[in-house]
Amino acid sequence: MDLSLDERLKKSSFSFYSLLNKRYFDNNLPELKEIIWRDKLEEGCFAFVSFEKDQLKKFGYEDGVVIEMSVDANCKSYKEIRDTFLHEMAHVYVKSKYHGKIWTQKIIELGLDWKNEV
Ligand SMILES: [Zn+2]
Repeated sequence: MDLSLDERLKKSSFSFYSLLNKRYFDNNLPELKEIIWRDKLEEGCFAFVSFEKDQLKKFGYEDGVVIEMSVDANCKSYKEIRDTFLHEMAHVYVKSKYHGKIWTQKIIELGLDWKNEV
């Protein structure tokens, strides 16, 4: 039997991050330190990113990026997962956890639409 999408994602998420970093952010994003899999925080594909010193401290890191990710049966496609990653990576890129002007600009540049975002 094939691996489910989230099993495949767990295996490939670090190289996926690197690939997206190279392709969409000119490799400007800090290193991904860890992906923490949470149990179905929201419906569908859902992620939360930490990149500020205060946030990273609680995971035991000085720098870099930590992504918390939750997926459920409604998170079905590669595109949905990619868009979720890109959404979070755009926060890192603009160094803001908010959906402000610069973040929105980057999202538009990436060709993403964004509903029910955090
Ligand atoms: Zn967001």
